[in-house]
Amino acid sequence: MAAGCAGGDSSASQSDVPEKANSSEITADTTTAPESSEPEQTTTTKFTCTTAQWKEPQEYGKVIALTFDDGPNTTTTNEVLDVLEENGIVASFFVIGTNINEQTVPVMQRAAAMGCEINSHSMTHSYMNGMKEEEITAEIESVNKLIEDAVGSVPKFFRPPYIATSGRMYRLIDQTFISGYGCNDWDSKVDVKMRVEKTLEQAEDGAIILLHDAAGNYQTVEAIKQIIPELKAQGYEFVTVSELFHAKGVELNPDLMTIYSKVPQ
Ligand SMILES: [Zn+2]
Repeated sequence: MAAGCAGGDSSASQSDVPEKANSSEITADTTTAPESSEPEQTTTTKFTCTTAQWKEPQEYGKVIALTFDDGPNTTTTNEVLDVLEENGIVASFFVIGTNINEQTVPVMQRAAAMGCEINSHSMTHSYMNGMKEEEITAEIESVNKLIEDAVGSVPKFFRPPYIATSGRMYRLIDQTFISGYGCNDWDSKVDVKMRVEKTLEQAEDGAIILLHDAAGNYQTVEAIKQIIPELKAQGYEFVTVSELFHAKGVELNPDLMTIYSKVPQ
């Protein structure tokens, strides 16, 4: 199947995502130096495609995908990445285009280099279900371009702001729609204990867990410090959303008017 990875897509021929490279590795030039500058001054960041490390679907046990909305930022997103790194796991980030800037692009690149996946949560985080065609297209094209410029690949997955959808959105947006099991962790009144309990209660094989790495959401950073070891102890393997579909042998079909909270639905 067309499977995603952190820095490039070795099987993009199955989709309309433009090929960035023929190899399974892609190089993103992080400098703005002109080509005539000395090569010694050029630094590059390599994002190694993780699809090569994927197992055959029948080899997976229980799988689960942690996902984080409303970043990127230089604070909470980095704290989430620290916890993922300490636990040696990956997650998927659904980013808002207006949060992408010179300061946050390196955070996205750090995530991608760790094997995490960067997906779309729209450009402006507005209700899109009442939008006209050209407004929807502008929201999607602008954030896709920013993500591609930052990490080298166009996202395959889209999480609608507020999970508000319309037939027009499904028709126009050529990405698989993702929802997930949330614990209202955008609400500061939902404390760490409640976040942990609700998430563990909803965890199941194939589930997509919906959390938020919005700046200042420290309670979710604390919650995942408990959630991840507990799910590991229960035998879960943490995968990106792309790998979740791969593990379950479910082909991506953006033409389906479906929003996934688990795979298979
Ligand atoms: Zn959101």
